[in-house]
Amino acid sequence: MAEPFIDGGYAQFSGLDRMTIVDPSNGEEIDSVPASGAAGVDQAVQSAYEAFPAWRDTPAAKRGEILGGAAHAVLGAVEELAPLLTSEQGKPLREARLEIRRFVHTLEHYVGLAKNIRGGYVPDLDVDTYGLIVRRPLGVVGAIVPWNFPTTLLGNKLGPALIAGNVVVAKPSDTTPLTTLRIAEIMHGAGLPAGLFNVITGTGPGAGEALAGHPHVRKIAFTGSTPVGKKLMALAAGDLKRTTLELGGSDPIIVCDDANLDRAASAASVGRFFNAGQACLAVKRVFVFESVADEFVEKLAAKVRRLRVGPGTAEGVMLGPLHSSGGRDLIEEQVQSAVDSGAKVLHGAKRPEGNGLSEKGNFYEPTLLLEPAHDSRVATEEVFGPALPVWRVGGMEEALDLANGSIYGLGSSIWTADLNRASDAAERLEAGYTWINSPQVVYDELPFGGWKQSGHGKEHGIEALDYYTETKAVVVRRAT
Ligand code: NAD
Repeated sequence: MAEPFIDGGYAQFSGLDRMTIVDPSNGEEIDSVPASGAAGVDQAVQSAYEAFPAWRDTPAAKRGEILGGAAHAVLGAVEELAPLLTSEQGKPLREARLEIRRFVHTLEHYVGLAKNIRGGYVPDLDVDTYGLIVRRPLGVVGAIVPWNFPTTLLGNKLGPALIAGNVVVAKPSDTTPLTTLRIAEIMHGAGLPAGLFNVITGTGPGAGEALAGHPHVRKIAFTGSTPVGKKLMALAAGDLKRTTLELGGSDPIIVCDDANLDRAASAASVGRFFNAGQACLAVKRVFVFESVADEFVEKLAAKVRRLRVGPGTAEGVMLGPLHSSGGRDLIEEQVQSAVDSGAKVLHGAKRPEGNGLSEKGNFYEPTLLLEPAHDSRVATEEVFGPALPVWRVGGMEEALDLANGSIYGLGSSIWTADLNRASDAAERLEAGYTWINSPQVVYDELPFGGWKQSGHGKEHGIEALDYYTETKAVVVRRAT
């Protein structure tokens, strides 16, 4: 039975309800964790709070050395961690390995930046007077993450937070805490000082809200749904905590008449069906120019037909189960709304049949839909699963209007050989990221964060460090 990780070791909470962790491919219980409440959260926050001064005062290069050693130890445990991640989350083993490596790469990126945290100097403010812009860590950071990429989304917070001298209390999703707990153990075993990275288990309304309301927590770094993001922002307003909110998305891809259709189809397929479509940053709406629409759709459909569905542990599987039965119910409703609105089903739109998968797990076939109504749910809501709607458009203006006609603004992409058209679209697409003739790959080097109801604040890039530090102005007058 797994327990929260606090102050460098596993804590023993007695008398609490336990939440069962289930394998989404077969519904079997694999473990359980306690549903911690305010008292458990307080214990974790207290540990972090007490560890903060020593970590803050550790030289930056030393912080980098320590975090680098801990990251390296996680890399060494990929073959242990990936099956654990697959069993609690459902994703194919190949993707689970990629996810753990990605977590490590992000930590290493910030290890590399450890000696580059800078303030400023302003000369001659007055006679014998100059100014300094001093940059300091915040203190205790609460990191609340969802179940779709439990470790990478945590790494995006852990890396910049720790390297800048902060300490972290993480709250993973109620359904995917196991890999995170083990990673915390490995990192502390490899030299991370006790109290720097605590992991509390529990529900959102229980542990999550207690963390967001705790007076010693200076910042909430949240990745999750837009409704919960709004709630957390309101909670954080209680004592004006800093927030970074990485929320939902409905990324458009625009395929122009001069695009490389093979590569665009490949980007749309991978961008939609990776992690069984359960990604914030994912191709969720396709707008293709009329003159190439039939050819593009045929190429895309051919790729979708080849995606093999099955348990994440089976060889050659590209699409694991959906993480929860509720998630599958929701996508079934959204697809039905598209079909009712007149969409043509080009592939899927049902559970796999005849192979016993659907009886055991939350499987759903990769689904391709042509021309649902523009007010159907697949057009207006975030679709968090393997279904992709395609619309024909008459040209660039129509494509941009439809692409921007969403409450979300996370990612976006455009495929065209015309650089003028591409750069114009990159300026006009209302989203935190635009890929031009490229699959939707997130780079540690570039800042990432949503516009509109996809959230605020940046992760990745050197820019993320701004969200884990405060600056202050210091005026120095020479003693005369
Ligand atoms: P969710 O918002 O339901 O939960 C996310 C986390 O918040 C979980 O740990 C949950 O326990 C916690 N939580 C829930 N209610 C809470 C509350 N009242 N107070 C405090 N914490 C609470 O999201 P989910 O279903 O786990 O994840 C899917 C969503 O995450 C999608 O909308 C997706 O787009 C979004 N997401 C965004 C990004 C991004 O970077 N923008 C990345 C991945 C996922």
